[in-house]
Amino acid sequence: SEALKSGRTIEQFEANRLANAPWELSLLARIDEGMRNGDIWLAYQPQWEFAESRISGAEALIRWNDPVRGPIRPDEFILQAERAGRIDALTYWVLEQAISSAEAMNALGSRFQMSVNLSAQLVDKPSLVSATSEIVLRRGIDCRLLTIEVTETASVYNRPAAIKNLLALKAMGFRLSIDDFGTGEASLCYLADLPSDELKLDRRFVSRMTTSDRDCKIVHSTINLAHALGQQVVAEGIEDITTFDMLRRLGCDLAQGYYIGRPETFEQLRARYLSFGRDGVKSFTSC
Ligand code: C2E
Ligand code: MG
Ligand code: MG
Ligand code: MG
Repeated sequence: SEALKSGRTIEQFEANRLANAPWELSLLARIDEGMRNGDIWLAYQPQWEFAESRISGAEALIRWNDPVRGPIRPDEFILQAERAGRIDALTYWVLEQAISSAEAMNALGSRFQMSVNLSAQLVDKPSLVSATSEIVLRRGIDCRLLTIEVTETASVYNRPAAIKNLLALKAMGFRLSIDDFGTGEASLCYLADLPSDELKLDRRFVSRMTTSDRDCKIVHSTINLAHALGQQVVAEGIEDITTFDMLRRLGCDLAQGYYIGRPETFEQLRARYLSFGRDGVKSFTSC
């Protein structure tokens, strides 16, 4: 316990040191460098479509192997990037990479949907739609291949501006998804104000649904609510077959989690898709 205590102290010291340290100053430069040299890259986590028994999409999740600090958790460095004023560049970099991957996956034959995460700090920015349009026009892409995930966080942002931006993105053809549904401050408000296409049930409910009757009922009702509004439901954080089967029985549309696959490189995603993309029944005998 003494070791634990001192361990925590070292951790705290380290956290304080990092918060004020020179690396903060070079963070901006290191993010730019990472986007160029491959230290920053996208991992893809497969999504399983129950109705078709196949992998029908993936979520692009950013990764950073910093040469100085080693791997840095995405939610941590997204926060740092937001503070350093680098979230725009990072987001548009993600968008371009995800578009290329989505095009490559769709070229394999069947429809494949790619999801990207949009930072809460960017969602109400006036430049969001013009910058995104610029990429779309320059690349000549089909926006329908991409799903944009927005999280309802506790952070304060200009809600009318955010809704206006999201409507414009939807008009361009992007699908909209409400991420981490059920954990935000105003998930139901989002559902009421935003014509989203999809709702992602947070892992908190999903991971407890096989052991907690209350959580299972929340999941079940949320699926019905989403369907009543014409939306699809993705369950995230599925780690075992029991949860997977239960969600299928409750009418959930899409499944994401370690049980289906961990975030992996594009090559791994492609190989996985090719090996059981078209007859998943072999891999998931319970389907
Ligand atoms: P998220 O969008 O809710 O992503 C899901 C997170 O849950 C991912 O963590 C994923 O690896 C993890 N996960 C998936 N399946 C399971 C499971 O079965 N069990 C458990 N325990 N975890 C699972 P990750 O990759 O660390 O990302 C964390 C968060 O960072 C994301 O949450 C998202 O909010 C943010 N993020 C990641 N990439 C980007 C990005 O490109 N842009 C922005 N703005 N945010 C991003
Ligand atoms: Mg997400
Ligand atoms: Mg999520
Ligand atoms: Mg999250």
